Amino acid sequence: MNSEQFCENGRKMVDYISTYLEKIRDRHVVHNVTPGYMRPLLPTEAPQDPEDFAEVFKDIDKIIMPGVTHWHSPRFHGYFAAGNSYPSILGDMLSDAIGCIGFSWATSPACTELEVITTDWLGKMLGLPEEFLHRSPGRGGGVIQSTASETVLLCLLAARTRTLDKYQQTHKHMDEMEVMAKLVGYTSDQSNSSVGRSGLLGAVRMRKLDTDDKFSLRGETLRKAIEEDKASGLIPFFLCASLGTTGTCAFDNLEELGPICKCKQEDMWLHIDAAYAGSAFVCPEFRHLMKGVEYADTFSINPHKWMLINFDLSVMWIKDSSLLVDAFNVDPVYLRHENAGKGAPDYRHWQIPLGRRFRSLKLWFMLRSYGVTGVQAYIRKHVSLAKEFEQMVLNDSRFEVVADVIMGLVCFRLKGNNTTTERLLEEILQDGRIYLIPAIVHNIYTLRLAICAERTNSDDIAFSFSVIQSCSDRVLKRFPP
Ligand code: PLP
Repeated sequence: MNSEQFCENGRKMVDYISTYLEKIRDRHVVHNVTPGYMRPLLPTEAPQDPEDFAEVFKDIDKIIMPGVTHWHSPRFHGYFAAGNSYPSILGDMLSDAIGCIGFSWATSPACTELEVITTDWLGKMLGLPEEFLHRSPGRGGGVIQSTASETVLLCLLAARTRTLDKYQQTHKHMDEMEVMAKLVGYTSDQSNSSVGRSGLLGAVRMRKLDTDDKFSLRGETLRKAIEEDKASGLIPFFLCASLGTTGTCAFDNLEELGPICKCKQEDMWLHIDAAYAGSAFVCPEFRHLMKGVEYADTFSINPHKWMLINFDLSVMWIKDSSLLVDAFNVDPVYLRHENAGKGAPDYRHWQIPLGRRFRSLKLWFMLRSYGVTGVQAYIRKHVSLAKEFEQMVLNDSRFEVVADVIMGLVCFRLKGNNTTTERLLEEILQDGRIYLIPAIVHNIYTLRLAICAERTNSDDIAFSFSVIQSCSDRVLKRFPP
């Protein structure tokens, strides 16, 4: 493809994308295919000779779109929001064109420096303590990771190294493996599956602690677990607290948990996973939910969830970056440069992979196009739509709301046993006009309706509720309570 053809096809692609997004409401939200659908549609081998791009273009509608679940449809209510916006898409286009691999400052200074500045902007927008910012006098700063899961793993590994080093200073007779076998990390029974998985990947115990009736992890529960584990000879070293759990968007009590982690005898690493709800702290009225954030060592949010940024872009802030740099330092000659350590980070030390994309471009484009007020308006609109939906649920006496509606998520169910709500979900998915997923919290089977798409409006919410009501009519007729 030469540059003329690139411009022609590029224009066509941009038109295709904008039509796709503007008319997405008209598409059936859920794909209509079964596993293996694509095999008969494509040859078994790559084309021997070049094909005209017009032929490739035709196949988007024929082969790709039937197998797409339309995450940006206002009828899509599964999981949590997945960010999207035109400026963010443009940012990725430019990043792909520049195509630098910015693992050190020297490999493309703009890639590192824009990330330093935009993560500081974002940290300030959220009201994070100064210590988390690059411009603070300490060793703090933000870094873009690809996912919140990767961040939890990274923090857990850094915490593991920190505790191993500390413990071996006072227990010189024990080798690293012996100490590792005694480490125990904590999280709540509501935290994302990636937290438990980090324990598996990091080869340490990860205990899931019970939550209270608001699905929140409380200090007393953590304190008891630590006492029990210490009595059995274990070494508590890490807590991953959640602000906005995956199941119900519950908030752990940082004001109780923080002082326990940070007291002298425990000195545990506190990581805060605010993957979804963290974006809401851009609105001052939600910041009371992160009281106690000052106790954290690391904090992360996913702008690729709820801040208009296309996957992938997850931001992690750390107060003392030397805990990453020193923990995972390898320094072959080909990665060194003469400006290392002179006022800009080499982000290769702050992450698991070596290579990294120029992701801050899409964050920068989005922040400049929307401004803080635009992002606030987007968050507030989603929260108010969730409240509207909650009211519709409460007005129909067949339903109950399972958890407080704080952000853009409503957890609700048909009153009665779990089976009735399970049948309702089957009916909704069979119907296919909207998409929801379930959660099981404290043995209660609940449906989760997340407000996901930027373009969702009150009519969409009313439409989704009417689909839920008609599916409920059918289920309750077939299986009377
Ligand atoms: N943490 C929470 C609270 C989540 O809800 C999710 C995903 O929904 C994750 C972490 C995982 O996010 P990621 O896909 O960026 O790893």
